Parts: sequence; structure tokens; C-alpha cells
Amino acid sequence: MLTDNHGRRFYYLRLSVTDQCNFRCSYCLPEGYRQTDFNPTLTAADMLTVVRAFARLGTRKVRLTGGEPTLFRELPWVIEQVAVTPGIQKVAITTNGYRLPKVIDDWHRAGLSQLNVSIDSLDPAEFASMTGHDCLPVILQGIDRALALGMPTKVNAVLHHESSRERLGQFLEWLVDTPVTLRFIELMQTGENRDYFISNHLRGDDIEAYLLATGWQPVPRALDDGPAREYCHPDYRGRVGLITPYATDFCQTCNRLRVSAQGRLHLCLFADQGIELLDVIRGGDSDQLASHIQQLMTGKAASHQLHQGQVGQTRNLAMLGG
Ligand code: SAM
Ligand code: SF4
Repeated sequence: MLTDNHGRRFYYLRLSVTDQCNFRCSYCLPEGYRQTDFNPTLTAADMLTVVRAFARLGTRKVRLTGGEPTLFRELPWVIEQVAVTPGIQKVAITTNGYRLPKVIDDWHRAGLSQLNVSIDSLDPAEFASMTGHDCLPVILQGIDRALALGMPTKVNAVLHHESSRERLGQFLEWLVDTPVTLRFIELMQTGENRDYFISNHLRGDDIEAYLLATGWQPVPRALDDGPAREYCHPDYRGRVGLITPYATDFCQTCNRLRVSAQGRLHLCLFADQGIELLDVIRGGDSDQLASHIQQLMTGKAASHQLHQGQVGQTRNLAMLGG
């Protein structure tokens, strides 16, 4: 089992399959994707070497992310292979969902066990202006299909200062009949979004207080849940979750590690640097990679320094997968 010097155990790998993205989310890639890292990227076979090494070290859950993971051509094959890797119990994906109706059946057949789709607004015009893509109905259609297939589905929505009340109302109305978990994520500062962050950051506390005052009950946490706090309500088929990276105890429950599409290990989302693993990965020996990763764990810090505005090397979350 992978542990660090602060007594935390790591069951969960977030593997970025590409840093490219086709959306222009206002807080992430407002100008769209532009290549800044010209280093080689992991092949599908490299990704499996990584997953096998982590599985050997006790990882049970793998999330495929990006950039936009759908842009990685061999994604269905990777899902299939990760799903049958001994020790891996869950393979999840985080996507902007732009092709969801076309791909969800293939992903389901390949063994995907959990879907996360990012939707920051249920108003089609607002969604289009926030992402640069007028495709909310397609994404919602894909979610309906995922639910029809019995796929556990979560929706990520980044909290914004502006119009947050209207958005909350719309989302809650949707949850009456839609059995997804909607997770509000506090906006995080990155190297490139400082001004946006300053004008938009909103703490999740108000939303939590509102939920508790209106009959929402906390749901007990599972081992691989990570830092989200979830709530349910008898009148709603859906649930609400909150991810509050600026809460003081946020990092105490950290259970995840990240590998970028360039094969760098990030011990924290806001680490000062990614640790180059590509050469070891390319060697194809997952045992050797596993012992290398184990040795690197002593470098994991107790907490991020976001409160001090220190975002490490993270220019935007697309480069790592959030
Ligand atoms: N492209 C995929 C998507 O959007 O779902 C996967 C990658 S994206 C970086 C993963 C998640 O990070 C999304 O839910 C997105 O909303 C969130 N995210 C990106 N930048 C963020 C920021 N600065 N603060 C909080 N969440 C952010
Ligand atoms: Fe792309 Fe996801 Fe970033 Fe939006 S949040 S720009 S979809 S990587």
C-alpha cells in the first residue's frame, strides 16, 4: 500500500491521457488549448504500465482525465485494459461530454464503472458562453443514456460568484428527477487564472448551510471518495456534493496521486514540480516503476499552499486533469 510521511494512504490514481482540449472554459483555457509542452506523451501501452505499477502498490480506482480524454483515440482500449487490470476495482472518467451520446455505449462495454461530466450551467446560452461550445443538449442526452445503462454518474460544476444563486436553483430543480450526484467545486487559483479567480471565487460554506437548512442530510463517506462531502434528500433522486479545497482540513483526506500525459508524477495538484517518470515507464517494467514511485512518496507535502496563492507549477488544470 502506498503511504506518505503524514499517515495518508493512496488508493486512487488520476491519469491524464492528453493535455489537449476542445473547450475554452473561462477559468481553465479561456483562449483554448495551445501546446506549450513539447515533450513526448504516454502511449496507450505506457498508460497500462503506469496503471499496473499503481495497482501493485494498492491502487483500486483509476480516473482517466485530461485535457479532454475523449480526444485520445485509443481511450476505449485503455478503459478496457484498465478495467481488467488485477487489483483495479473502478475505472472512472472525467469528461466535458461533448461526444457523450456517441461514445457512452462503447465506454460502458469497455468496463467503465463511473462517469463524471462537467457542466457549469444548465442554461444553454450561459453554458455556450462559458465553454465556447453550444452543446448542452447533447451532453444532457449523453447523461440520460449513461443513466439508462445504469452507469453511476456525477456532474461537476465549478462555483462562480456571479449568478450562483440562479444556477443553484436550476441545478436543484434538475436533481428532483435526475439520479446523478452534482458536485460543486470551489474555483481554484492556477498560474493563469489569477484575475478570474479573484473576481469569481466563492466559498462553498453558504451552499452547505443552505442545504442543511432545507433538509439535506450528509451521506457517510466511502474509502475512495476523496475530499467531497455529499448530501441526500428524500424529495430528490439526485445528490449534492461539495469539494472545498480552501477548507482547512481539505488535504487530510487526500487519497490520490496524479500522472500527467507526459508521464510526470504529481504528488499534489499544486506541487512545485512534476517528477519525470517517462524513462522508467518506457522501460515497460511495472515492478521497477512501482518501487521507484514508492521511494518518491516521502516528498509529498502535508498540504497545498493555495491559501497563500501558491499554485506550484500548475498553469491550468487541463495540463493535469484536475
Ligand atoms: N476536460 C474534462 C472536464 O472538463 O471534465 C476533464 C479535465 S478538467 C481539468 C477536470 C475538472 O476540473 C472539471 O470538472 C473542471 O470543471 C475542473 N476545473 C478546471 N479548472 C478548475 C479550476 N481552476 N478550479 C476548479 N475546478 C476546475
Ligand atoms: Fe477543457 Fe475541462 Fe479545462 Fe474545460 S475544464 S477547458 S473542458 S480541460
